[in-house]
Amino acid sequence: MTKTNMKYALVTGGSRGIGRAVSLKLAAQGYFVLVNFQRNETEADKTVAIIKEAGGDASTLKFDVSDKDDIQKTLGGWIDANKDKSIEVLVNNAGIRKDFLLMMMAESDWHDVLRTNLDSFYYITKLVIPGMMFQRFGRIINVVSLSGIKGLPGQTNYSASKAGVIAASKSLAQEIGRKGITVNCVAPGFIKTEMTEGIEEAQFRSIIPVQRFGEADEVAEAVSFLASKGASYITGEVINVNGGLYT
Ligand code: NAP
Repeated sequence: MTKTNMKYALVTGGSRGIGRAVSLKLAAQGYFVLVNFQRNETEADKTVAIIKEAGGDASTLKFDVSDKDDIQKTLGGWIDANKDKSIEVLVNNAGIRKDFLLMMMAESDWHDVLRTNLDSFYYITKLVIPGMMFQRFGRIINVVSLSGIKGLPGQTNYSASKAGVIAASKSLAQEIGRKGITVNCVAPGFIKTEMTEGIEEAQFRSIIPVQRFGEADEVAEAVSFLASKGASYITGEVINVNGGLYT
């Protein structure tokens, strides 16, 4: 594929952690990657630089996934200005956690997490789907969490947001399967990124069957598979990448 007719992939939160690993994998699969970020421009530029050094292509697209106006203006603006290009793969990866016991959780922490992790799915996916429908092909992959499947204490906001995305993915998969678009989730357990800094790996080793935290790359492998043509008959599914912690 030449650089002029490359297909596009949008990875939200591609500046660091799992999103960076996913961006690199999708670029290696031949996609031009739109690396979304909110704050860490230097790290987002680094993701793009690594992709380019490896012979791929990418650019950054800064918008706040928790801000519907910014999504509309920036992502909507990109789509309007690039009618000849189609986003074939959407990875809703950007996410935050603000952990407190429910009794102590500020209302703003409830809403911040729900807006960033769940509402973003609605606003971003809704903008990207029409192009996929036109192409009669698309892959939507949502990075959720073990916490959204089994619940974790101190994470009622985070668990609710991720469980919401899982349920929404299952519904959407049934709405658009006939258009050649699949919708799936990848649910990581404990993965070594900035999000888990401060969580002592040694403390959890004994309850994780493979006895370690995962690498961002190991999550990206599952995303990359779901994005591939080979995953065409898988939709509405959740792949756990958690070292056997849940299953
Ligand atoms: P991370 O290292 O903290 O990175 C978070 C990424 O999300 C960054 O690129 C950040 O961008 C971006 N982001 C956060 N808020 C944003 C916003 N409002 N708008 C745009 N981008 C935003 O996290 P991670 O561990 O890679 O997590 C990635 C996903 O995996 C999240 O959805 C998380 O819930 C999920 N997950 C992680 C784990 C784990 O153990 N790490 C486990 C289960 C699920 P900036 O660089 O601009 O800050």
